[in-house]
Amino acid sequence: MHSVNVEIEVDLPDGVTVRGYERHRGAHVFEVDFDLPARFACPKCRHEDAANIRLKNEVLPVRDLDLFGQPTFWVYQPSLHQCPRCRQRTQLPTPFTRPRAAYTYRFEEWVLELLVGLSVEEVARRLGVSAEMVEGILDHRLQEQPTIPVEAKITSIGMDELSLKKRHKLYVTVMSDLSDPEHPRVLAVVKGRDREAAEKCLALLTPEQRAAVRSHRTDMSAVYPQVCSEQLPNSQLVLDRFHVAKHLGEMVDRVRKKHGVSS
Ligand SMILES: [Zn+2]
Repeated sequence: MHSVNVEIEVDLPDGVTVRGYERHRGAHVFEVDFDLPARFACPKCRHEDAANIRLKNEVLPVRDLDLFGQPTFWVYQPSLHQCPRCRQRTQLPTPFTRPRAAYTYRFEEWVLELLVGLSVEEVARRLGVSAEMVEGILDHRLQEQPTIPVEAKITSIGMDELSLKKRHKLYVTVMSDLSDPEHPRVLAVVKGRDREAAEKCLALLTPEQRAAVRSHRTDMSAVYPQVCSEQLPNSQLVLDRFHVAKHLGEMVDRVRKKHGVSS
């Protein structure tokens, strides 16, 4: 056996630099560094001063997107700012992950994208992560106040229910933008799977946006088709996206298994 070097390009968020790379048990591990702010406001006493930075004596891993079908991890050394006034030490934010999250922002977006049409368990299995992690990402989106930019052009809407079994034993309604079928985007995650939840989702769109929607694809088991046809005057129900996507997901998983691709 012999080996060759392959050069690849990896997209990095602004301010992030790769310092090292290694392979570890079928995963790619990038050692990353990131720009630190020149000034920082202490969250405890609100005093702002020049950043007084010390590296923390630990290395944190976060999951990023896959590379060649294998998981990628970033490892970084967090930095602390010590407030010159109250002596409070604060871990400085990174440009690529939420504090204390075990994954990058773009990994979160990818998980949400996969959840359009797949169950929590299927997404977890496909990414080789725990269902708790997937639910944690959904849960975070649930806690946020969803907003949709008024200028967003949305021609196709998806509405599905997902169950969060591990953490809350609750159902949520996920409304997604399916205008670009290659890249479904989650627009809102709302508690419940009833009429109220569906109406709450659609109320996030302006009347003009609702009138611009041409098609909607919904989970058939709930009240979604009815609410959508009431609120989306120019939209037609398209029946089987959920099942097609689900079916495709299972096919992809089967192919991966057959060829021994593990993630
Ligand atoms: Zn302070």
